[in-house]
Amino acid sequence: MQVKVNKEEKRSWIEIDLARLEANYKALKEQLDTYSKVIAVIKADAYGHGDGRVAVFLEKECSVRNFAVSNIDEAMTLRDAGVKGSILILGYTAPQHFKTLYDNNIMQTIVSSEYADSLLLSPYKVRCQVALDTGMNRIGLSTNNAEACAETIKGYAAQGLNICGAFTHFCVADSLRPEDIAFTKTQIQRFEDVVSRLDSLHLDYVHCCNSAASLAYYPELGKHLKKYVRLGIVLYGLKPDADFPVDVNIKPAFEWKSLISMVKTIQVGESVGYGRAFTADHTMRIATIPTGYADGYSRRLSCGVGHVLINGQKAPIVGKVCMDQMMVDISEIPGVKMDDEVILLGDGLNADEMASLIGTIGYEVICNISKRVQRYYKKS
Ligand SMILES: *Cc1c(COP(=O)(O)O)cnc(C)c1O
Repeated sequence: MQVKVNKEEKRSWIEIDLARLEANYKALKEQLDTYSKVIAVIKADAYGHGDGRVAVFLEKECSVRNFAVSNIDEAMTLRDAGVKGSILILGYTAPQHFKTLYDNNIMQTIVSSEYADSLLLSPYKVRCQVALDTGMNRIGLSTNNAEACAETIKGYAAQGLNICGAFTHFCVADSLRPEDIAFTKTQIQRFEDVVSRLDSLHLDYVHCCNSAASLAYYPELGKHLKKYVRLGIVLYGLKPDADFPVDVNIKPAFEWKSLISMVKTIQVGESVGYGRAFTADHTMRIATIPTGYADGYSRRLSCGVGHVLINGQKAPIVGKVCMDQMMVDISEIPGVKMDDEVILLGDGLNADEMASLIGTIGYEVICNISKRVQRYYKKS
């Protein structure tokens, strides 16, 4: 299948290679314990890759059966795209949507005991999973007292909540610092202490591992705690943390491209862009690219912090990134002309590397690419 790029519309676009997504998934499956099943985390538009398309592909071509999203809009996008597998909403959904959850067989997270109460009042027997807070202090029932926590959950079930799972989330599983590893082990223990008391509920879904924990080695994680793992970032070929070792051969599944809209020569003393943040001290060739911060290209990459690739060579950003355009230095790259392709993110310049230039994480870089940037799919 070829990438369909409409020449007339081409400005700033992403080419998503579904073959790489599939290869990532297969490589990760091979690395995981044979009994572990993947819950594909498709939130935030599949980390910018296009949620409906990615979920349908994973379901049809890779036999993924379970998906997780962050909210009801995302869940409905998957159902509307034809996803048949299980869908778990990892965060809050307002009670007025319980009917929609029920009608579309979407599982909801019980984020707190107050939330459980509102579910109990609802006539709709929404399938739900209990979030257990083992130390992240984001959502979930407190596990400080395992016995009391388990009794509370069993109480909800007895009162009629349709509880089919329990999960927790690790906050430092992507770190190799000894104190962080120790903290994750504490979280595992707290989780185990509660779920081991819930046998009578015969929960279908018990899970705790994100990408990092799935790939790290924690002997404390028994089979029953790894029956399902929630994979997000690594499916898309990026690392949970720049320093986190990933032994699996995964590759970013997308390239962000733009083109050259104009080429010019500037003389000594001429400035470039807003704020006149850059002034030439020698004759330079400058190219303009029709992508800016409104497309999600961080303004923090301005003034030489970031660069793009043209014909495989680095072209540093000159001046400030504008809303819809930016300028780069092509003095060292011969033959650049209007309509030439530019790589903003791709092989040789991935989101993790861009993130480290501006003090953030690859997750934020890819999630921030705006909807204005068209997504095209190919299978190489
Ligand atoms: C986002 C998220 C994940 C996926 O995290 P990755 O680091 O991308 O694998 C898993 N679980 C929960 C609760 C999440 O919010």
